[in-house]
Amino acid sequence: MMIVMKPTATEEDIQAVVERIEGCGARAHLSRGEEVTVIGAVGDREHVQRLGLEGHVGVSQVVPILKPYKLSSSQFSHGRRTVIEIDGRRVGGDNFSLIAGPCTVESRDQLMTAARAVSDAGASMLRGGAYKPRSSPYSFQGLGQEGLRLLAEAKAETGLPIVTELMDARDVEAISEVADVIQIGARNMQNYPLLAELGRTGLPVLLKRGLSATLEELLMAAEYVLKEGNPNVMLCERGIRTFETAYRFTLDITAVPMLKELSHLPVIVDPSHAPGRRDLVLPLSLAAAAAGADGIIVEVHPNPEEAICDGPQQLYADQFADYVEHVERAAAVAGKVLSAAA
Ligand code: PEP
Ligand code: MN
Repeated sequence: MMIVMKPTATEEDIQAVVERIEGCGARAHLSRGEEVTVIGAVGDREHVQRLGLEGHVGVSQVVPILKPYKLSSSQFSHGRRTVIEIDGRRVGGDNFSLIAGPCTVESRDQLMTAARAVSDAGASMLRGGAYKPRSSPYSFQGLGQEGLRLLAEAKAETGLPIVTELMDARDVEAISEVADVIQIGARNMQNYPLLAELGRTGLPVLLKRGLSATLEELLMAAEYVLKEGNPNVMLCERGIRTFETAYRFTLDITAVPMLKELSHLPVIVDPSHAPGRRDLVLPLSLAAAAAGADGIIVEVHPNPEEAICDGPQQLYADQFADYVEHVERAAAVAGKVLSAAA
């Protein structure tokens, strides 16, 4: 249920409603707008209904939230879009975030060369996996702790915030020390205990869409993070499994405007993993930016021929500045400017 307060409601009125909601075992989430405050009551709908909040002082109306996802829904934020601030860079709103870097942290030289190239080209953040979800248990699994140490070094030199993947709740502490954004990979989108754990950390989360997840399932996964009190969630479209076999995954561009209609959370697109081919990364990036995406997370490597994983799709670091120029223009078509440090 959504309790819409009157513009004249006082702080005491709001707190009194919150106490009534919590008193019946539900949770109250506040969304303060310029004019009115909306209180999302998440819990047993019947219990909340029985409170009769329509008649409570300061309450304008009580509206059921019809979607199964609540806190991530546009209805809950009454049209306001979430803007997440990461080390002075803004994600969402009129900002276009460019997250770039190698698929995997492989060595000091590889990471630092990539980090300098993307930083010089104007990237907003640096990506790089220290823990990698590989289809084969016999493949390289990432440098782990050593990878995190190198990411910290790249951040110290370039000033770029770090986006890196978390796969195991036991690594939350170590990764949180380095990461500014925690990436939840497609294969873990429905790892609910992991999502709830991140909800309790408050750290910004980049939540990738599962290989065969519907948009509703993606939003329900986001709900697990939001429900624990962490509002900093970015949704990421990275391609889904379809009957098409000409490329690895089908990048669902339709998901961009659709998610922006259904939710107030920023929408990021990964143009690298769907095609699995470098030459298709630019056209998909342009499409994503023009469709209104709030940003892109793209793979860049100084020497992709020698990459340990995802080599064929990684952009050449020395060509990245040219790529950024093109993407920036497409983002401008959708009214967005590249997000840089404030
Ligand atoms: C990645 O970003 O390197 C990655 C493994 O992505 P996904 O989880 O989307 O496959
Ligand atoms: Mn990859």
